Amino acid sequence: MPRTTPPRPVDVEALFPELAAHRGTTTRLHPRPGRPDVTDSSVGGPVLWPSDEPWPVCTEPHEHARGERPADIRRRRRILADAWLRDPNSGPTDAERQELGALDDEHVVAGSAADDPLPMICVAQLYRRDVPDLPAGPDGRDLLQVFWCPFDAHGPTGYGMLIDLRWRRSADVTDLLTAPPQPQVVGFDGYVPEPCVLHPERVTTYPFAGLLPDGLRARIDAWEEALEKQAEESEADDEPDPVGYQYDLSIPPGWRAGGFASWHTTDPAPMTCRACAAPMHLLLTVDSSEWDGGSGSWKPLEERDLATHLHARPTEVTVGRWGELNIFACPDDPGHPHDWSIQ
Ligand SMILES: [Zn+2]
Ligand SMILES: [Zn+2]
Repeated sequence: MPRTTPPRPVDVEALFPELAAHRGTTTRLHPRPGRPDVTDSSVGGPVLWPSDEPWPVCTEPHEHARGERPADIRRRRRILADAWLRDPNSGPTDAERQELGALDDEHVVAGSAADDPLPMICVAQLYRRDVPDLPAGPDGRDLLQVFWCPFDAHGPTGYGMLIDLRWRRSADVTDLLTAPPQPQVVGFDGYVPEPCVLHPERVTTYPFAGLLPDGLRARIDAWEEALEKQAEESEADDEPDPVGYQYDLSIPPGWRAGGFASWHTTDPAPMTCRACAAPMHLLLTVDSSEWDGGSGSWKPLEERDLATHLHARPTEVTVGRWGELNIFACPDDPGHPHDWSIQ
């Protein structure tokens, strides 16, 4: 079943014709639980990886012997999902709560040293044929594989993420690695994705308001303020929230490739390539939810009737404080190093 973004509540280019010059496209990935194959684009699915190439590992020295076991995390999610679907009022039974308590336990991997290399988790693989807004990789490579270390323990703060992106030519992989190494424990359950198939859909998008020219941004602000005032003065109790540029018209929520980054928690930061100083482009957004109360207008037509909160987190991935991870790439040379921002 495809996933279709509903028409936007207003035609924003009819209101602000100069926005046409800033129009872009992004591909919403619409991940949904499923059984992807190595030849599919997926989140948390099996990875097309050659048997003779070393699996990506984290080599930053940090404690990684203590954490939750991925199998326990998946079991906990299954119990909770089944329980809340069965009984939306009270959720898990007492027996289930007891099991959930045990699944929360931390485990210690015996004999694991901080400087042992730690296998990374492949969070997503994207074939360019499936994702129109995914640029070509270096030397025309067609498959992007995104890895991360499952601990918040990197960089100058000692609490940062570590991400590793690999591009490959899928036709070159003939002998598959069938049982990739996995971390025995993880520092945070949000790093463990549920297997999801993708339903890519290309949609129109516009830049974050703070990056539009001042005059245009001021007119959009004034229009939003007038709508808010109108809503406040309205007598109706069930009046929906007024339409807004950020939530309804510019950048869709959820996992997506290409388009524009949102800067709703920090001020916009210039992302420039470390190798050539070119302004970088958004490559991929990893989001903690596909929609929320404020961005419900993007919920696909096919899923309009699903309970908003029960179905908002198909991948179970969490980034930052329920935020999103934006990964940037150099537009001039896809082999130049990537960079990222968390919002
Ligand atoms: Zn690490
Ligand atoms: Zn560059």
